[in-house]
Order: sequence, then C-alpha cells, then structure tokens
Amino acid sequence: MNPSELFSPDYFTARERFRQAAIRLGWQLETQPIDAVGPQGEVLTIDVGLSVGTNSDKVLVVSSGLHGVEGLFGSAVQLALLEHWAEGSLPAVRCVFFHGLNPYGFAWQRRFDESNVDPNRNFLLEGERYEGAPPGYAELNGLLNPRRPPSRWEPFTLKALWAIARFGMPALRQAIASGQYDYPQGLFFGGSGPTQTNRLLERHLPRWLDRSRHVVHLDFHTGLGPRGTCKLLMDSPLTEEQHRRMTDWFGARAFEACESDGIAYQARGGLGRWCTSRNPDRDYLFACAEFGTYGPVQVLAGLRAENQVYHWGTRTTPTALRTGIDLQELFCPSDEAWRLQVLKQSLTLVQRSIQGLAAMHLDE
Ligand SMILES: [Zn+2]
Repeated sequence: MNPSELFSPDYFTARERFRQAAIRLGWQLETQPIDAVGPQGEVLTIDVGLSVGTNSDKVLVVSSGLHGVEGLFGSAVQLALLEHWAEGSLPAVRCVFFHGLNPYGFAWQRRFDESNVDPNRNFLLEGERYEGAPPGYAELNGLLNPRRPPSRWEPFTLKALWAIARFGMPALRQAIASGQYDYPQGLFFGGSGPTQTNRLLERHLPRWLDRSRHVVHLDFHTGLGPRGTCKLLMDSPLTEEQHRRMTDWFGARAFEACESDGIAYQARGGLGRWCTSRNPDRDYLFACAEFGTYGPVQVLAGLRAENQVYHWGTRTTPTALRTGIDLQELFCPSDEAWRLQVLKQSLTLVQRSIQGLAAMHLDE
C-alpha cells in the first residue's frame, strides 16, 4: 500500500480501519465509549486491540491519539503494522494497541479533550494536586490565551519572537508547555481531576497487561523537534539496565532521558511516569515517540488560534474552519515525503522493540 494511503482523513475513518485490520488479524477488539460526542453527535470510543495466542510474559504497547489531532499519524503507524503483520510475519510478543486515547480531540481536530484538558498533563501521581502553574505562565497568559476569536492580522509571531528573545527558548518552553492547572481555558491545562481516559486506563490497564512482566510502551506523538526526525522522550528516570537496553536497541542518540536538556521539557502529569509508577512489579519501559513537523512558533500559533476559536469563536466561520485545517496540517503534514519518512522510522522502532523484547531473558 502507498504509505500516504495509510493516513486517514479523520477520526471515524481511522477508527474503522483500525477495527477492521485488528479483526482481520484475529485480535480481540474492545471498544470503550466515552461520555462526549463527535461533530455530528457520533459515539466516541477508545479502541483497544489485543493480540492473541502469543506468550504473555512480554508485551508491546503501541498507543495513538493521546493528543487528539496527533492521532492521524499514530493511527497510520498502527494501521501500517497491522497491515504488515496480516501479510505473514506475526510479531513475536503479545501486543496491546490503544487507538485514539483522546477520541474527542481526535474527532474534533484538537490537541485537548472534551474538558479542554491536555491528557498528557493529567496523569498526576498519588498525592500530587491538580493546581499551580509554572513560573512565567501567568505573565504569558494574555499572549497565549486571548479572550476573543482569532483575527488574521494578529502579530503573534512577532510577539512570540520577542518573548523568546526575552526569556530564552528553554525557559519559555518550560513556562508554556510543561502543564498548568490554574487556567481551565488556557493551553496545556492539566485538568482539575483525572479525565475519562485516565480513569479508563486506571480501571482496565492491569487486565490488558495481564501477566506480562516486561512491557515496552511506545506512545506516538507529533509536533516537537526538527521536521521528520524522531526522538524517544522518556518522562520517568531509567534504571541503568533500561538505559543500556535503549542504547542497544535504538542507539544512544535516539532517546532523551528525562533529566537531559534537549528538545523536551519537564512536564507534569505525563502518561509515562504514571504507567511506570502504577506497575512497580513489572519492568515497564515507556517512551514518547515524538516526530517533528513544523517549527515551535508555528505550532504554538496554531494551537493558540484553535483554542481561541474553541472558547471564544463560532466554529462555522471561515476563519474558524481554517484553524482546524491548519492544526491538522501542523500535526500531520500532508507532504508525502514527510509521511513516508515518519512511517519508516516508526516501523523500525517497533521492529527493534519487538526483537529486543523477544530476545530478553525472563530473569532480566
Ligand atoms: Zn503529543
């Protein structure tokens, strides 16, 4: 199949293709509806595909769409894998695929969910409170979250460049994107309690992981880093052994540990840290597979405009419709070369994870 054909135009098409491909492989399929509807009142679901018949000590988890609109890409990766396996060579470990972890954002083409929550800032650990904002966010609130619909002539880029010059990129990124709990209509809002996705995983993840002792979880994202390149971002500290394994499997430059100062920032409420801490008895290796699309100012401008429309605009105006289309392009470029490049890298990542997992001894 032409790689571009693996990319679906919307959530509903992507979900249907995922379901069909999983069923064709003989996988079990579970659909978990959420309490929110799509643009035409459709039922929204998180779909879970579970492979059957393989040894359950080791499991590969592949998730897509935690950031809604980014799911167009993650879903294409999952479909590519399912289609590839349908041609013959089945994976040597058990697989659990989560399709559309934020179905509302996926269906409505936004990063955030039905409560404007960034799901990857919502997974706070026991004892952490849904409150606070990083230093600097309050000062930037007016720039990030204007209380009016977007206009074509706003000098946002200029203002953003000014802010970069003033604070420096790393500090700015930390202030804006690391997660805040005080501005419910703002960007990167982490919520005021666990979201539906969070509660669903809390309830069912132990069952889906079953008896597995070694878990590798790749959570697919876009919008961060140089265009078309992949970086594995770890949001919880690695053990020495996991660090060695990551280096062996993917190469030392392929990943960023959470203490390092690369393209990432220290976010609160990440899914990875939560999965790791909820599974102390398993060896749980979690990585955000991040693929670059457009530059950071452009991506931020798109998120900002879409959020303005969502809270302060009318979604049917031409400007509003354009912000949705723009956001989709920012997180899943239509460019064929980009699509081919990111799919290839994703398949390699998954292949190496499976080979690595399969080769592990169970006493490791
Ligand atoms: Zn993301």
